[in-house]
Amino acid sequence: MAASADPQRIIIENCSIATVDAHDTEYASGYIVVADNRIESVGAGRAPEGLTGVVRRIDATGHLATPGLVNTHHHFYQWITRGLATDHNLFNWLVALYPTWARIDEPMARAAAQGSLAMMARGGVTTAMDHHYVFPKGSGDLSGAIIGAAREMGVRFTLARGSMDRSEKDGGLPPDFAVETLESALAATEATIDAHHDTSFDAMTQVAVAPCSPFSVSTELMRQGAELARRKGVRLHTHGSETLEEEQFCKELFGMGPTEYFESTGWLGNDVWMAHCVHMNDSDIAAFARTGTGVAHCPSSNARLAAGIARVPDMLAAGVPVGLGVDGTASNESGELHTELRNALLINRLGPHREAALNARQVLRLGTFGGARVLGRADQIGSLEAGKLADLVLWKLDTLAHSSIADPVTALIFGAAAPVTLSPAGPVKNAARTHPQCAPPAPPPVHDLHDLHHLREPHHRTTYAPPPWTPRRRRRVTDRRNRRGR
Ligand SMILES: [Zn+2]
Repeated sequence: MAASADPQRIIIENCSIATVDAHDTEYASGYIVVADNRIESVGAGRAPEGLTGVVRRIDATGHLATPGLVNTHHHFYQWITRGLATDHNLFNWLVALYPTWARIDEPMARAAAQGSLAMMARGGVTTAMDHHYVFPKGSGDLSGAIIGAAREMGVRFTLARGSMDRSEKDGGLPPDFAVETLESALAATEATIDAHHDTSFDAMTQVAVAPCSPFSVSTELMRQGAELARRKGVRLHTHGSETLEEEQFCKELFGMGPTEYFESTGWLGNDVWMAHCVHMNDSDIAAFARTGTGVAHCPSSNARLAAGIARVPDMLAAGVPVGLGVDGTASNESGELHTELRNALLINRLGPHREAALNARQVLRLGTFGGARVLGRADQIGSLEAGKLADLVLWKLDTLAHSSIADPVTALIFGAAAPVTLSPAGPVKNAARTHPQCAPPAPPPVHDLHDLHHLREPHHRTTYAPPPWTPRRRRRVTDRRNRRGR
């Protein structure tokens, strides 16, 4: 909705403001005028006198205003399998959890989305995404359930409609009963785009094409998925270069590393963003920079699964678009994005760039404008500038937790997770939605986890074993050598 001739206005005053615009403009004490669902003006001091149609005036003393946080990678359904397989690496963790995930249905997907979204909304997320790739037969309209939950919460949302069609029998990781066919995955993805993708400036729902990963998706689904996305004009998302095991898998199966594989299947481009990208060499980073391929950096999940530290400082120096991601709550049980700001800063300082790796303002940019860029929405959200959507957050920084830190951006990034007093997403009617004591409505109780344990396959494998093609291929090579020897 564009600002009308006589808009309804909200005035926010007396707060510090970090605009995250191109010049990192900040105001020690300033104002923001919101007209309908857009930012009308931002500046230092008090708001201009004589504004009409003012429906609310907020004294934000003691607060920092920033753009709303943008989450660029998540799996909502994992809300109902938090705290399991806690001491596993990625492949073993996946193999342990696939059988449970493959039992998901519509009520579970809705409740998990409500829990995941509420957890992020209370921490300042105004734009969320969900990479959902588990669609068991007969499970109902999972995409509709997830999108419905985001609409109820008033959070701007991208559903990355995922898919898997490479199961154990084809050398993949998921069990056979957990995957779709190539044809059904593509048809359902196209139907989801047709039903839900909104191209308008203030769209609340967008859809991306998102086959899960090289080790759970056929090359043909990667290729045809990219073609579908480009035919429909939507973005492309997948997991990439997360672990050393994945790199080894790609080299064994495709004869090349993950980035080369993505390039060969049409998966590098300025309409693509990829989760993790931990194991990237210099030429991989250069390929991402050259093509404008974006990255969703998920520091806590990478640490939890012992995947490694992504080279974020090198990516930023090369010009790669980078945003932040929670990742699923089965590999980041907190489910919060505002704590990822701090974790991104701290974890990257453990890498080779040490204390020069990232500073507080770079991290705030990753969580806001960087995320907007990665989701293809940098013209609409991600910074506090006149004409952009009024997706902003007021962080309360005048309590015991932060009040002795002079610089508000330092307090937000280095300090404890700050409470959110106001988080408007969408039009004015939602702007009145406050979170006193930082508490959005609790989602309904979901499941007793013991029930989920009962859903597990009784005889599923519990650790990752090399897929069957590996010994066969090695045997063939050995046989050839033996024949040559003879
Ligand atoms: Zn993920």
